[in-house]
Amino acid sequence: MKRVKVVVVGAGVVGFSAAVCVAESLPSCSVTLVAEKFSPDTTSDGAAGILFAAQFPDIPLQRQKRWFKDSFDHLLSIAHSAEAPRAGVMLSSGCQIFKDVPAVRRPFWGDLVIGFREMSERELRRFPEHTFGQAFTTLKCECVSYLPWLHSRFLRAGGTVEQRRVSSLDELAGFDLIVNCSGLGSKTLANDTSVHSVRGQVLKVHAPWIQHFTRDGDGKTYIYPGIDGATIGGTRQEHDWRLELDEEDTAGILERCKKLEPSLENAKVVSKWVGLRPSRKNPRLEKDMVRVKGRKVPVVHNYGHGGWGVTLAWGCAVDALGLVRESLQEISPQAKL
Ligand code: FAD
Repeated sequence: MKRVKVVVVGAGVVGFSAAVCVAESLPSCSVTLVAEKFSPDTTSDGAAGILFAAQFPDIPLQRQKRWFKDSFDHLLSIAHSAEAPRAGVMLSSGCQIFKDVPAVRRPFWGDLVIGFREMSERELRRFPEHTFGQAFTTLKCECVSYLPWLHSRFLRAGGTVEQRRVSSLDELAGFDLIVNCSGLGSKTLANDTSVHSVRGQVLKVHAPWIQHFTRDGDGKTYIYPGIDGATIGGTRQEHDWRLELDEEDTAGILERCKKLEPSLENAKVVSKWVGLRPSRKNPRLEKDMVRVKGRKVPVVHNYGHGGWGVTLAWGCAVDALGLVRESLQEISPQAKL
């Protein structure tokens, strides 16, 4: 029987998650992943990878909760397995602190992480400028390990990969269905002018004594201990496409983080990194139909996760798989999927 040819564009955490879901769930499909950049050169590779999310304005909350929960449960099962160090997934406990009490004291994911609670006055004494805090245990997924791990899992499921830039969807004429996970690349590939960059600069420091994460509720200052050093940050510069390091940003990060965690004074900076968050008012996760060299081809778009792509990748991949099934059913109603 002829196999349906599916192509996934993008080798970041969103693309590889979708590719694994489709390849493992739909044996009637042959799945190829095409991307210009692979690990360690994607945006996903430099993300701190903490599971945490802000709320998107126009996506039903139930759907956002499902994305978060599916991702959390998937990564938690990895964290509890012998695969954890190879996959770069670990549990991470800490707190988010606020100068003023936020309008929403309990975020939508409060019930989905572990042990979410408000901090006591005694705990907050460490942070004299902050009046409110939330303590919880979440997960940290380090894509420098997780992407190669997903890559191997994809190959084991029969997938194939190709490294090349796709300048237009016409170049994918040989495929029956396209899953577009090209992040910022969707600006040109999907002709989507609403996709933009939010620049982020982070530093990696050697500070093995720091065991708990601290995040300022302003979203700009954070200290996330990881498997190999702590990631400290950061910046959120809208519509800034510079990939070069900015030494003023470096100085600002160090100053703000030392204020939260004075012991960082003794930490050695190991590396510095800049990434561009593939941002949009809401992520785009929907079916579409495009004309590819005169033929109508279904596309499932899955991009624009901004600062929360690692957090949402698996949940969105599960949703994307559902949309792939629906699209295949529409083009081939007799197909057994
Ligand atoms: P990418 O990783 O950018 O991958 C895009 C892929 O598409 C690449 O393989 C690229 O080569 C390919 N591509 C694009 N265009 C084309 C084309 N025309 N042809 C072929 N291939 C193409 N998220 C969290 O959840 N938690 C965090 O703690 C966190 N911290 C972050 C810290 C910083 C400083 C930054 C910058 C981001 C952070 N993020 C975090 C956000 C996260 O990194 C992104 O949301 C996520 O990496 C997006 O994944 P992606 O697969 O969509 O994009």
